[in-house]
Amino acid sequence: MCGIVGYVGPRQAAPLLLEGLHRLEYRGYDSAGIAVQRNGKIELRKKAGRVSELERLVKSRAVSGSLGIGHTRWATHGGVTDDNSHPHVGGNGEVVLVHNGVIENYAALRSHLTTKGYVFRSATDTEAVAHLVADCLDELTRLGEDPSSDATCVKAVTTALPNLKGTYGLAIVFRDCPGLLVAVRNGSPLVIGVGEDEHFVASDASPLVGHTDQVVYLADHEMAILRADEFTLIHRDSGVMTPDVRVLEHVPGEADLNGFPHYMLKEIYEQPQTIENALRGRIDEDEATAKFGGLNISTQDLRRIDRIVLTACGTSWHAALVGEYLLEEFARIPTEVEYASELRYRNPPMSDRTMVFAITQSGETADTLAAMRECKRKGQPTLAICNTVGSTIAREADGGIYLHAGQEIGVASTKAFTSQVTVLTLLALYLGRMRHLSEPAGRRLIGYLKEMPRIVERTLQCHDRVREVAEKYHEANNVLYMGRLYNFPVALEGALKLKEISYIHAEGYPAAEMKHGPIALVDPNTPSVFITPHCHIYPKVMSNIEEVKARGGPVIAIACEGDEKIASIADDVIYVPDVEEYLQPIVTAIPLQLFSYHCALLRGCNVDRPRNLAKSVTVE
Ligand code: GLU
Repeated sequence: MCGIVGYVGPRQAAPLLLEGLHRLEYRGYDSAGIAVQRNGKIELRKKAGRVSELERLVKSRAVSGSLGIGHTRWATHGGVTDDNSHPHVGGNGEVVLVHNGVIENYAALRSHLTTKGYVFRSATDTEAVAHLVADCLDELTRLGEDPSSDATCVKAVTTALPNLKGTYGLAIVFRDCPGLLVAVRNGSPLVIGVGEDEHFVASDASPLVGHTDQVVYLADHEMAILRADEFTLIHRDSGVMTPDVRVLEHVPGEADLNGFPHYMLKEIYEQPQTIENALRGRIDEDEATAKFGGLNISTQDLRRIDRIVLTACGTSWHAALVGEYLLEEFARIPTEVEYASELRYRNPPMSDRTMVFAITQSGETADTLAAMRECKRKGQPTLAICNTVGSTIAREADGGIYLHAGQEIGVASTKAFTSQVTVLTLLALYLGRMRHLSEPAGRRLIGYLKEMPRIVERTLQCHDRVREVAEKYHEANNVLYMGRLYNFPVALEGALKLKEISYIHAEGYPAAEMKHGPIALVDPNTPSVFITPHCHIYPKVMSNIEEVKARGGPVIAIACEGDEKIASIADDVIYVPDVEEYLQPIVTAIPLQLFSYHCALLRGCNVDRPRNLAKSVTVE
């Protein structure tokens, strides 16, 4: 959460910072601020609200200077106010910084620093870091060191850091040391952009696009000491290092709306293409299996695997549930799905024959990263399924599979879900063909998979019908989602989408579980969405629908084209193409994405920037 951007070079910093903050705004949009250094002064502009409001403020009160830092916040400590906005000032203004992460011992630091005379102006955890660095700097100055030298400022930071408990990505500037920008990371992502006589720092590479394609991803405990024409990289333990400069790949136009009113809708419509991208180059027709370039694990080792753990959060966790069904059905490998936030603090028995997959769109999800590291520490092979090339999880995993879905900007994940399920299907095929899956079965699966982009294209034709259904039900306060087998995770995902962007309370259940509690919620104002395409227990789902109808609950059914029977029972039907059971989640998720989108619009909600949420959850 939260986006950091910094610049040092020959150009005016403020416009670059504002542009960068716009691109990072999906990470948090509670408040925004910048600080720009010039002539021994650091000027701040910060404000609760969107980056566009900050931009207005900067227009009315311009700042000039060619070194600066900026921040767009997702509040963890302290309300959404101007004072709590970053950047934060330490001491009497000698240190100014922006922070992504959580300082767990901030209360102790705050009381210690208050006793020493530091005055806190915000309720954030971050301000304690600013005062702490200032305190270290003052101490060094008292001992005779020069506060205008890089060495003293860097020493102030390195002295302060061991006192911090928690996670941080920090970008720091110093009033008395013109032209110096320090960035340091522990747990929150930072990337350095290396330009010609200029340097950038940012939470992800998006602010660098169009300015430089030379990037260095910071690892934990690495510090970048930046000047316009200098870049020193220091690791806490190993000292000065040679930066590993990589070339940033960028697909032009990714961040454009391309005529769509919202990123979410654009991304829903990209799914035929993103599924195609997930499949591209990964089908081995000759062997009737899948192939992956980056698993980095030998076939021999893969055959030894006797258990798989899929760990994830949110929508990725739902994709993992589909993955569990797929892997057990096709590869016959016992598979478990773990919330990363739980797994990181549990100590389940795992042997070196357990393979762990961390599934995350951003590759930066804090809990997923921590769970993956914990498993790695214990010797499990850990692989990633993620979308963002060069992300922390992609870099730290032993190997993995990229989604190649392009940047997902809408906070409610859509295309990443269907790509994750596609990749997990390929994985199940691959591991299955190494074990029990026959050649004809593998070939059949491949045939169906290759059809998916076209089928998803056709599924999108349900859009008008979904809009009509949303018009009828968008005023509901509660919605139940029911599905069985492969469509149970889809029920969870449909409910999550509705909660996220339309703020309607929704619950997803395996349809048969309804009798064990949720049916008590059924009344004429509580619609139930039944995801009920053809499957081998279709008649059972029909009975579940009858049970809801008998209690006066309205029923919306997601059913297969040609299913006339359902129309006589359900109040409203949304038809989707008929596909094999195990591929249904890729199809049935789509009307539910569109349903939440339209309910949100009709309720006047901000679809791409839902309240209290941010795109990549980089705090615990
Ligand atoms: N903990 C800091 C705050 O609440 C930073 C939060 C973030 O990383 O978004 O201001």
